[in-house]
Amino acid sequence: MAGPIPVAVVGVGKIARDQHLPAIAANPDFLLAAAVSRHGKVEGVPNFTDFESFLRDGPMAAVSLCTPPDVRVEMCLAAIEAGRDLMIEKPPAATLGEIETIIAAAKAKGVTLFATWHSRFAPGVEAAREWIARREITRLDIVWREDVRRWHPGQDWIWQPGGFGVFDPGINALSILTHILPGPIHVQAAELEVPSNAFTPIAARLRMQARGHVPLSADFDWRQEGPQTWSILVEAGDERLELHMGGAELTIDGRRVDVGPEQEYPTIYRRFAELVSARKSDTDISPLRIVADACLKGRQVATDAFHD
Ligand code: NAP
Repeated sequence: MAGPIPVAVVGVGKIARDQHLPAIAANPDFLLAAAVSRHGKVEGVPNFTDFESFLRDGPMAAVSLCTPPDVRVEMCLAAIEAGRDLMIEKPPAATLGEIETIIAAAKAKGVTLFATWHSRFAPGVEAAREWIARREITRLDIVWREDVRRWHPGQDWIWQPGGFGVFDPGINALSILTHILPGPIHVQAAELEVPSNAFTPIAARLRMQARGHVPLSADFDWRQEGPQTWSILVEAGDERLELHMGGAELTIDGRRVDVGPEQEYPTIYRRFAELVSARKSDTDISPLRIVADACLKGRQVATDAFHD
């Protein structure tokens, strides 16, 4: 590769600060060339408050899009039209129709598009995928319960249409599920608990089925205080695999397996550099399809108003 890839971070909020900026700073394949945000600023690089003026007047740089999903489609299409390689945070867009349009536009323009799923790069996930590939799975259960006040303080967009509610973290579990258990997954039933002052669910329970009629379940809840749970439990007859802490910990038949340190965002940027260099894209939308199907098939139940 001829020198580092200039990259602009767009949407300087929690995940940009916590993960993207440190991962870019630590990766010699990238050079932070600009930041684009209405309020957030990054020292040492040109800052733009508006995406259009960045595309028009800013440096020719790839775009790492960290804005909420409901404002992505126009930004993605503008970046692609301007010939920028593009990496987008999960969930890739607010609807299947939007992401399909984005994928088609990137293909037509010949730019790299990387729709990321950071949880797929959790250190236990690849070993889980290999374990599952050698067995007949008999059931799989996801338990993803966290405290929304701790992880999304003051983020109003998560409660608005297109904000995903508890599916914002839940889709991380579904991104692991669709990676370790490839093939069709059908939502059979879903119950979505929606606070009376919100438009998106604070909890969701899904019953699903994978190929071979394997039963799958997901229990997503944003009201868990104290210890947090991000677990996937897999059974193959008498054998049992457990992923905990979002895929950072792996247990097989009760024995902890050493999977190495957490490297999700450094790995995402390594993968983006590979894709840019090979002029390829990576755009799996299967986790988003499950969320859409759960919303189509889900039974909504009103629950207590939520106050941050
Ligand atoms: P956030 O803290 O709200 O940051 C998003 C930034 O996007 C905002 O600070 C805002 O910056 C900008 N933005 C542009 N248009 C916006 C709009 N209409 N409404 C709100 N913000 C807007 O959110 P985040 O937690 O970083 O999440 C961003 C994306 O990363 C989401 O898709 C989320 O699923 C994903 N993600 C988050 C985490 C996490 O731990 N929080 C982890 C992994 C992935 P300006 O106001 O300066 O423009």
